Amino acid sequence: MVRSSVGNEASAFEKARIIKILESVGMVLQPLELAQIINNLPKDVVLDREKLARFLLLTAFLDQQAESPSARRTAIRIYDLFGDDLFFKPQQCLIQINRLAALKDEYKISPAIGRVLPRFGWFVLRVGGFLTYEMMLNRSNLSEKLGRCKTPKEAAALLQSNPLVESILREKAVRMYISWVGHPNLGIDVSNGKWDKSFFEMPVDGHVGKIFSRGGLVSAVIHEGKRGSGSRWNVIIASNMRLSIQEVTNQYSDDCIMVDHGAFQIGINCCPDNLKDIACDSCPRASICQIKSKIGCKGYCMLRDFCKRNLTWRAY
Ligand code: SF4
Ligand code: SF4
Repeated sequence: MVRSSVGNEASAFEKARIIKILESVGMVLQPLELAQIINNLPKDVVLDREKLARFLLLTAFLDQQAESPSARRTAIRIYDLFGDDLFFKPQQCLIQINRLAALKDEYKISPAIGRVLPRFGWFVLRVGGFLTYEMMLNRSNLSEKLGRCKTPKEAAALLQSNPLVESILREKAVRMYISWVGHPNLGIDVSNGKWDKSFFEMPVDGHVGKIFSRGGLVSAVIHEGKRGSGSRWNVIIASNMRLSIQEVTNQYSDDCIMVDHGAFQIGINCCPDNLKDIACDSCPRASICQIKSKIGCKGYCMLRDFCKRNLTWRAY
């Protein structure tokens, strides 16, 4: 692990503009993304805070090292299979875990995991972990437990203090889950308005690290190796950059969750790791882009006028 200068650092004015654009992109796309997860659920689950908090936790468990759309479809199909027993009779579901075989082709995992474990094995371990965690809750109410915490950070720590959750969810996934159930503009608001949106912590994945580095929002990048030491030397170690990313974001925004999501979306859609068809000045994918009309993109990257284009850095 090495720390290097980012290259060109943005001015305070440029940082402020970039972060505001990222925030506005996230404010449009983050609620839509969450709606995609919950819109296909029956109304009684969506309207029941406890069922929804548990369903979203299952989704977060499945999302780890998996293809997100397939993980989200699979979570809904698991609910179709077990109904409310999924939330209130986890032991019964665990005994019948062989029923998951009907869903094994739906769930897609990352190739790296596939090389060490059969896909169905990974799937069963995730769902089994979720059901076991529910059994450990021992009839207590997850949404109330989280909502009683003073801050989202405390709620994340509470969730992670369970060794089972700690073994399944990475810290960034825990922060993402806490934003789903606690951010006042998103799914559930377990704290009943007690948590201000400025209290949250950014999840920060590789795409977010890439946008903050390529954009020149941070002065230094923490990455895998010395320049020229291997093909992956310039891959960002996002978890080690989280604090500097959070710090600069807090200077210019009071809604870091939306900034995080905006950076993720620009990073994955407009600013590819391999630079092929990169959208800085003109986007070759404009005719097929799924987010263009939603965020009012004019056919080139929305950060074009302020980004420092430190193209060395990669997410993965
Ligand atoms: S696409 Fe270009 S302008 Fe947009 S974030 Fe990436 S490097 Fe910056
Ligand atoms: S059209 Fe291109 S530049 Fe615009 S949002 Fe889509 S991927 Fe990004």
